[in-house]
Amino acid sequence: MKKPESPSRTETPTLTREQIDLTRKLVFASSREPLLPTGTITPCQVCGGEMVTTNNLKKAIAVPMGLVILVGLPGAQCTRCRSVAYDAGALAMILEHSGSEIVADYETRVTRASGNTLGTYFKADLSRVLRLSGKEKLHWKVLDEDRALLEVER
Ligand SMILES: [Zn+2]
Repeated sequence: MKKPESPSRTETPTLTREQIDLTRKLVFASSREPLLPTGTITPCQVCGGEMVTTNNLKKAIAVPMGLVILVGLPGAQCTRCRSVAYDAGALAMILEHSGSEIVADYETRVTRASGNTLGTYFKADLSRVLRLSGKEKLHWKVLDEDRALLEVER
């Protein structure tokens, strides 16, 4: 397979804005019922166990005020390894609640300090509202690869 336009940079696939919008439209247009009747058993892609179709999956989404827990989502969950597969309808609900833009009060940039160590700088207004003096510990609760909640220990 040849890629005509991209020179030898990273192999990370990048979605264009148009592709993302199209995907969102397709997902929003889809059904909110499970693809299969509830209770249907399908093989788990992860462990080969039994995935049971359900309309009662949960998903936690980080928002500025805390967490939104979505319940009653259609999909399937493995009875052995607990891995979850959301139906398109569930993904639509998750996307709706996540919003198209990242909801944030402040933005900081991740910078490379030295070697593989990454760092971020706290701008003055962020330090002020969090009352950071430089001696605190930060506890990160990772929700998924794109979201985390941060708690300051003084
Ligand atoms: Zn499994």
